Amino acid sequence: MTAHSRKTGFLAGWRNLMLWKQITLALVAGAMLGVVLNTTGNQDIAVAIKQIGVAFVSAIKMLIVPLIFVTLVCGMTSIGNLARMGRIGLKTILFYLGTTAFAISIGLLLATILQPGLGVDLQAASAMEPKPAPSIVSTFINIIPKNPIAAAADGNVLQVIFFALLFGLAINLAGDPAKPLRDTFEALNAAIMKLTEIVISFAPYGVFALITWVAGTYGLDLLLPLGKVIFALYLGCLIHAVIVYGGLVGAIAKLNPLRFFQGIVEPQMVAFTSTSSSGTLPVTMTAVQKNLGVDNSVASFTLPLGATINMDGTAMYQGVAALFIAQAYGVDLSMGDYITIVLTSTLASIGTAGVPGAGLVMLSMVLTAVGLPLEGVAIIAGIDRILDMARTTLNVTGDAACTVLIAKSEDQIDEEVFAVPHVLEPADIR
Ligand code: ASP
Repeated sequence: MTAHSRKTGFLAGWRNLMLWKQITLALVAGAMLGVVLNTTGNQDIAVAIKQIGVAFVSAIKMLIVPLIFVTLVCGMTSIGNLARMGRIGLKTILFYLGTTAFAISIGLLLATILQPGLGVDLQAASAMEPKPAPSIVSTFINIIPKNPIAAAADGNVLQVIFFALLFGLAINLAGDPAKPLRDTFEALNAAIMKLTEIVISFAPYGVFALITWVAGTYGLDLLLPLGKVIFALYLGCLIHAVIVYGGLVGAIAKLNPLRFFQGIVEPQMVAFTSTSSSGTLPVTMTAVQKNLGVDNSVASFTLPLGATINMDGTAMYQGVAALFIAQAYGVDLSMGDYITIVLTSTLASIGTAGVPGAGLVMLSMVLTAVGLPLEGVAIIAGIDRILDMARTTLNVTGDAACTVLIAKSEDQIDEEVFAVPHVLEPADIR
């Protein structure tokens, strides 16, 4: 056999793999390559490879505004009735707030048991100037866009959601004269979903590049001293995902949790490597609809909203990080401090943008509220990317879990599609 024919065989084999298998292989291969580059002192190669990942993330980001706008308008026009919209909205918010409070509690409990901050050498961490966190009141007022075009241009997701909801509502209320607009949005929706699939088919390469960069630049040296805080957060995220989300999907929605987790592998991997839940949104949207059979009328509402305000991973991280800093500085916290941490972490997670590192900025708000030294942010900054990978994955998993639960309660999930293991494959796309 010639080298050429072997190569053809390998390529054909690769192309025939399901997308999630391609992404998993890319993740493992990238991590291994990164560690090798790091230990051989070739970090610059890892940084160069990162550019492929940056290109992939830019391509997904390109989709965010048109995708949110078009799918939300379609979602609104297909829900049709106002009472139902209100009901879905209320259930979504309740789910998001309830699970967030749970997540922080798990984080606080683990940080209390594992004591990650004991014996940390404060001098070893890299320096970072904390930026002031925006106030919660202004976050709410800012949801109304003075200029919807500017909102779209700035990528302000909450403002785009707000405008899309009202616009969809107006199309419904306008009735017959607006019918052509409704059909146009349906057509636009089909095109934008296809474009999303095309971009997602490049996920394995983006994931490979990003994980190579993370493993290549961090290596093992930085990870070991702060290993306990990393462990605490990863363990917390795992517990929350399996017990809270898996439990809710199994017990309340009466759907197979394993099938749920299997159906969201692609968005989880993209979230893990890109550390942006907003950036992952197009992938989450596709997976939830195609793999899990959720109807667009639910997914188009719960997912963009979730990517913006539902951040259980971020909330848990605030709790773990605050306790870690208190322990590292030897500060004793009162019961009142714990309650303050739960409240401020919930608010901070709602106000956190779904972009890389945003949770770190909001951490300063939590620390200020309980009077912990802001320099603590600097210690966390050194390993924030690693923590961000876990929390963003949990954030995205929570959005998907909520979507499945609400879809089930509204009878908007095709259980036959849900039952079929993985349908997203590259052949779908190319
Ligand atoms: N990167 C997270 C996200 O996009 C936000 C955070 O920094 O906690 O979900």
